[in-house]
Amino acid sequence: MRLILLGPPGAGKGTQATRLVEKYGIVQLSTGDMLRAAVKAGTDVGLKAKAVMESGGLVSDDIVIGVVADRIDEADCAKGFILDGFPRTVPQAEALTAMLKSKGLKLDAVIELVVDAEALVARMENRVKETIAAGGTPRPDDNPESFRKRLGEYQEKTAPLSGYYASTGELKTVDGMKSIDEVTAAMGAILGA
Ligand code: AMP
Repeated sequence: MRLILLGPPGAGKGTQATRLVEKYGIVQLSTGDMLRAAVKAGTDVGLKAKAVMESGGLVSDDIVIGVVADRIDEADCAKGFILDGFPRTVPQAEALTAMLKSKGLKLDAVIELVVDAEALVARMENRVKETIAAGGTPRPDDNPESFRKRLGEYQEKTAPLSGYYASTGELKTVDGMKSIDEVTAAMGAILGA
């Protein structure tokens, strides 16, 4: 099963992806996680991505598409994958469609988590508090200024993906303001249908 989860930062894509991974035995491919790992490891990709990520901007399309194309070829993706945080722009979506086609693959569904932007800021602040309370270090881009920039980037560049995937007939929407379990159930209904 090959899926895309769409939704602004903090919409709960990561949480739902973790559940889908367990249920379907597929792999979660988060470009944010892959890029953070590259930054931590100090690879070429990481060095290029670090500053723009910390400021809440978008890493260039060719870097991100290259990272995903290579990852999809790995053996653990044979049963399928969930793309989390990619594609982020219509050009990335078009590149993904072409890349999958060249590998003889296609998506099974694109699911959008529809949420209220102001509620997301509160969710982000909670996530920071919980991380600190648990003795962890919050993400450097989880601060009000970077978070609003990430939301703005989403609204400007990623929200148009709904239109792109509606036009391909692949888009399904779920109310992301519901509880985590309700969102999971709604996704299950879509994927089981
Ligand atoms: P995320 O964990 O998905 O919120 O991603 C964290 C950061 O990684 C973003 O703010 C971007 O700087 C970068 N990033 C992740 N995915 C992409 C993508 N598909 N295109 C461009 N930049 C990305």
